[in-house]
Parts: sequence; C-alpha cells; structure tokens
Amino acid sequence: MMGIKERNFRPLPNLSLEELVPQDNFYRHLEKTLDLSFVRELVNDCYAAGGRPSVDPVVFFKLQIVLFFEGLRSERQLMTVVADRLSIRWYLGYDLTEPLPDHSSLTRIRDRYGLETFRRFFEELVEMCAEAGLVWGEELYFDATKIDANASLESIVPRFSVEQHLQKLFEEQEDPQDADGVVSGADGKSMEHLPASNEETLKARNATQSNWISRAGRQQREVKGVWYRRTADLLVSKTDPDASPMKRKGADHSHLGYQAHCVVDGGKSRIILGVLVAPFEVTENKPMLDLLWRTAFRCKVRPHQVTGDSAYGTVENIAATEKMGIHAYLALKGAGQGRPFFGKDEFTYDAERDLYLCPAGESLRRHSAHAARRVVKYRADAGICEACSLKAKCTSSRKGREVLRYFDEEYVDRVKAYRGTFPYEKALRKRRVWVEPLFAEAKDWHGLRRFRLRGLEKVNAEALLIAAGQNVKRLVAARKRGPKSWAQVAALRIPARTTRHPSDHITSHCRLSCHRWGRFSTGCQSFTLLTELPSK
Ligand code: SF4
Repeated sequence: MMGIKERNFRPLPNLSLEELVPQDNFYRHLEKTLDLSFVRELVNDCYAAGGRPSVDPVVFFKLQIVLFFEGLRSERQLMTVVADRLSIRWYLGYDLTEPLPDHSSLTRIRDRYGLETFRRFFEELVEMCAEAGLVWGEELYFDATKIDANASLESIVPRFSVEQHLQKLFEEQEDPQDADGVVSGADGKSMEHLPASNEETLKARNATQSNWISRAGRQQREVKGVWYRRTADLLVSKTDPDASPMKRKGADHSHLGYQAHCVVDGGKSRIILGVLVAPFEVTENKPMLDLLWRTAFRCKVRPHQVTGDSAYGTVENIAATEKMGIHAYLALKGAGQGRPFFGKDEFTYDAERDLYLCPAGESLRRHSAHAARRVVKYRADAGICEACSLKAKCTSSRKGREVLRYFDEEYVDRVKAYRGTFPYEKALRKRRVWVEPLFAEAKDWHGLRRFRLRGLEKVNAEALLIAAGQNVKRLVAARKRGPKSWAQVAALRIPARTTRHPSDHITSHCRLSCHRWGRFSTGCQSFTLLTELPSK
C-alpha cells in the first residue's frame, strides 16, 4: 500500500539547541578551538559609548568564518543559510527563537571596520598559529596569483573623462566640510583640535610614510615610466575603478582583474603570513619588500632565506634582502638573453681595476653613471670593436659595446653564486609546490577565482578573510590532532640551531616561542615543562 505523508506540525516541546546539535559537529569543534573574543578589542574604537547595542563583533567575525567554510558568495545568502542551520545558530550563540542580524547590517559593519581591522584580524590569527607552533619562520615563499574583478571589460572608459566628471561633481558639491568631515573656519584653518605634542611627531612621520600595504596596493599614478605608458593610466572601469586589464596565459581576450600577493611560511603547515591585493598592473616585485618587512615585524620572525620566481629577482629586492643578512633565493632573469648578442654573463668584472673584460679579452672602462637609475655604464673603445672579429656577435653599435652595472650589482653576483648550490635549487623546487596549492585551494573551494566585492579596500578585506580561513583550517586541524607523545612534543618544539647568523643565540622560531610562552595553551605548556627538565 502506498503511504501518504500527512503534514502535521506540532509545537516543539522544551528543547535546547545544546541538545539538538550533535557533539561531533564541526562548529562545536571550531567553537572549542578558536577563541575570537580578541576582536572586541580590535573594533572598540568603532563604537560610541551609548546608544542601541550593535551586533556583537564576535558574531560578525564568526559569520565571516561561516561564509568561508560554507563557500557562500553574499551576506544575504549567508543569513539564509544561518536561519536554516541549527549548528550555525549554536555556533553564533543565537537561540531558536532569537531574531538573527539582518544581512544589510553585516555590509554596514564591514564598511565601518575598514581594511585595517581585517588586516589586524588576519594577523591575530597568524599569531595564534605561531603560538600553536605552526609557523617556522626560517624560510618565506613569495608568489602572486591573478584574480578576476567583479566587473566587465565593457565598463572601461577613458580615465581623463572619469576624472573630469568627478572634478566637476565635487566642485558643484563644495561645502564647508572637507573630505574628512572636519569643518573649516573662516580663515580656512581646520577647527579640529590639534593632536597632543607627544603624538605630533609620530603622526607627522606616519603621514610621510607610504608603502604598498598602507596604500592597500594602490598604484602610484604620479610615478610614470620613461619608456612606456601603463594601459591603466589611460583607461578605467566605471564599475570597479581599481581593477586593471589583465590577460591570462593562453586567453584570447582580456579581463579586469587584480593580483593577490602572498607570503607563505616554509614550515610544514604552510601558514599564510601576509596577503596584499594590488591592481593587476602592479608587478610582483614591487610590494615584495613591504610584505617582507611587515611579515618579519608582525610575526616576529627573522627568516634566513626568501624565495620567489624571476618576477621577484630585481636588483632592488636582492640588495635589500641580502643587506639584511637574508639569503635571496630569487630566480634571475637572464639579462639580454632575448637579443642575438653576447649576454652580460659573457663579460667578466674586474673589481680591482673597475672594468669589464669582454670575450675577446678587451677592456670596457667606466664611461658614465646615472644616479637616479643607480647604474654605471661601461664602454669598449669604438675602434677596437670595429676591428674585432666577434663584433657581429657582440654589438651593432658604432660607439662600441656597452655593459651596465648596477650600484648594488655585488649582491646580484652573490645570488648568481648561489645558483647550482643545493639549498638554492631545493628552495626553487620547493617554491613550485608550496604556494600554488594554496592558491588552488582558495580558488576552487573558497571562491577566490573572482572577487565578489569591488574596490581595493574591499577586495583586500575579502582576500584577507579567505587567507585567515585557510589558516584557521590548519589551526583547527593541528589542535584536533595535537602531538601524540612527549617525544613528538619535543621534536615539534625544539628548533635546530642555525649557524647562518652567528650573532643569533637562538633561532627565530625559538625567539618567537619564548616571546609567546605566556599565552600558550596545553601543547606549549608541555614544551615549557620539557625545556625546564634538567639535562642529563
Ligand atoms: S666587439 Fe668589442 S666588446 Fe665585443 S668582443 Fe669585440 S672587442 Fe670585445
């Protein structure tokens, strides 16, 4: 006999959400292992002392984590899922009958917090990973990936027309309030109170500082190339003005897009230590140093090597890292290899006499220096070159062959000497399999193939939240697993001594651990106990 299901719903008996959510539910584990109470302190300045209570910041960030784990693309979709799922209600701390926050509140809260809050949230989670022993800190890997913008190429118009339109618009709307909402007095001076004297120096110094992270990856339009004009200097999208045209490998047409730059730790857990999204037009090498210094400072690590592909191997990057005592394991582009003439590698530099020797054994003497480009030109005698049998392979110039040497070329020579050594080759091999899988994970599982938000501040916040989610996955897995025996605790925690920096008495990992012992949970307390045992 065919059964017919009657729809007959009775009021629920006295039930608690606590009983309805299974004990082994993922969100129970997440609640147990990830304490987000620190976010209240992060956003304290965003709230007034009185008024209607807001959505709890902890709930807001828990919702962002849920957005990541559920692979959702919008706050509206998120709140529909939350309303439907007991386990997520339990995770957020909302009872069955309690009204949930509206999705529009989440958007407003996100805008109110701003990018800096999301960056600090990400860095706090990195610190938690470090406390759990997941950050090694000895090796850092740099890479970048292309991400489509949430805008069509059809939305592109000439930049000058948009700038003219905006200028006209703001001239019409001119009022006594300046851009910061500060009311100006009759004499045009700001009526805002002056900062205290002890803050002034700091503020003045901060105001003069500008780096890729403080600009959220924004291009410096005032800095123009000598030999070329960037396409993005001429064209802009009306939908997402920060995105710039990009072409994927093998694609027959362009998209609008960004480039996400990442710093990944060389430890087994592959924790993402730094993220910066910049318009596609910003090449990989530009934000590298800012990301490196910030990572070293915020994560309190002192890497002994950094690794990146040839896009990072510029003289500026190599010299800055080598000067800091960090090995620059960066792939080098062969200078002039695309030309039919002898490359620079065919010429030998004689430091004592400050000249180059060419393949025919002739000298190229110092000719001129360019301070702005930080480069010295060496030139062979025109007459000798004209008479040389190798001239066809060397130069087509009638003035004689020229070779350029950067002021910091000695550091490039040092990196050239690394080539072929085991640590250098190993680092480059490791780079190929270290960062790319993280990009694939973010794109295939967490929707980073195309940004859902628009504008640099928002796409940076989106990328930071996804990277934070990826780190949380590793943190939760590590805390669930935990070291199984005392021997493993010791093996995981005691770092090997390094001889690379003789001035160091402890490695960066050890220093990091020492710094944070006060906040360690069970695993680290075990290590502290181990290290306190008298050695036999
Ligand atoms: S052309 Fe001039 S620089 Fe080149 S190999 Fe001959 S002598 Fe040397």
